[in-house]
Amino acid sequence: MTSDLHGRTQRLELSDQNLRDFEAVVLDSTPEGIVVNRSAFYPGGGGQPADHGVLLWQGVETRIVGVRKGDDLYLIPAEDDPVPPVGTVVRAAVADERRSALMRTHSGLHVLCGVVFRDYGCLVTGGNMEPMTARMDFNLPEVPAGFKEAVEAACNAEIVADRRIDVRVLPREEAFAIPDIIRTATNLVPPEVQEVRIVDINGLDTQADGGTHVASTKQIGRVKVTKVESKGRGFRRLRIAIAD
Ligand SMILES: [Zn+2]
Repeated sequence: MTSDLHGRTQRLELSDQNLRDFEAVVLDSTPEGIVVNRSAFYPGGGGQPADHGVLLWQGVETRIVGVRKGDDLYLIPAEDDPVPPVGTVVRAAVADERRSALMRTHSGLHVLCGVVFRDYGCLVTGGNMEPMTARMDFNLPEVPAGFKEAVEAACNAEIVADRRIDVRVLPREEAFAIPDIIRTATNLVPPEVQEVRIVDINGLDTQADGGTHVASTKQIGRVKVTKVESKGRGFRRLRIAIAD
């Protein structure tokens, strides 16, 4: 799919979220960044941090500690690790534990977002995640009694219901015709983007989203709401932890 291109790199993780190893050819290589023709390393975005992993070539291992988005996607090697020369065929592996934790966490945040909108009518104003912990900000003027416990129970009910999480790419007009997409309009999709990737937790939450997600809500595990903070002028910050 041409829409999965970033610079010269085909982004494999957008259409296969479970892919953890792949082969690629090195197109550019400096200690600051390595460009390959295809990659399953999530480069970061939408609150989800970049993947880590390794490139293996000619008996050498190059650890990848991040990804930088420029005209191309630059895989960032660990300091002092040798980098593969241009033209090298590398075997690459995405660090599975970190990525799988981030997928569970990201999907957990979407469940939270869906629940808080459905039950309290709140919109999301921001968010961020680390593997197994996350925060999300909402416009909620008053915190009702028992809010923290009620939100946690509702999230876990949606997880137990094992709702399917579908990813699909739609033409821009079709995507923005979905009423739910409007409420996440804070993640503005630039006008030049003609196709929009949609993450749909069936029956709960539909968002324009470029992140990686688990296939159904049961795979998230359990959501714990650890804290509700007041951020002034009606904004609340919910902190969550993901557990098995
Ligand atoms: Zn998201």
